[in-house]
Amino acid sequence: MLNLILFGPPGAGKGTQSAKLISKYHLAHISTGDMFRMHITNDTPLGKRVKQILADGLLVPDSITIEMLEEEVSNNAAAEGFIFDGFPRTVPQAEALDAFLASKSQQIDGVVQLDVDEDEIKQRIAERQKISGRADDDAEKLLKRIDEYFSKTVHVIPYYEKQGKVVKVNGVGNIEDIFNNICQAIDGFR
Ligand code: AMP
Repeated sequence: MLNLILFGPPGAGKGTQSAKLISKYHLAHISTGDMFRMHITNDTPLGKRVKQILADGLLVPDSITIEMLEEEVSNNAAAEGFIFDGFPRTVPQAEALDAFLASKSQQIDGVVQLDVDEDEIKQRIAERQKISGRADDDAEKLLKRIDEYFSKTVHVIPYYEKQGKVVKVNGVGNIEDIFNNICQAIDGFR
């Protein structure tokens, strides 16, 4: 098993790098953001509950997010490991994930922190908005999402630092170079 967290602010390149990592390491990719968007597209009861929260750029309550995540992990029981992308975003989510994995005799093996500064993020999201049309990528919502990141999500890093699991990788530059640096970090976790 290899359980990884890909960590970074909105627009850090987590989605792009996850796609490359799953094919190299044969891991299941769990993106809570993608899952919420799928529920919204399919207009499920969960989708109806979270639609406005995503549109506002706010974090979905922990209880809802944790329940959805645990169900997805359980549905992928045959996976050789997971890349958690966009989860955990709060310390209670990180604690819940640790407890959940421990109940399956598993653990988080490492956390890759993609390091990208705020100006670069804003520029990237502005570009992405042009092609994706994601409602939460517009400027005001983006500021909210960045706020959520710096007020709540950054605290997840010290949580895993205390466990000695965090490796910081520069998230600015050539996609292949960043990918190679992430792979080097991952190979150090094994
Ligand atoms: P993302 O695609 O990861 O940027 O997520 C898009 C949106 O989904 C976020 O702005 C939140 O509204 C919601 N979301 C995704 N993951 C989480 C999480 N772990 N905790 C709370 N909300 C989340």
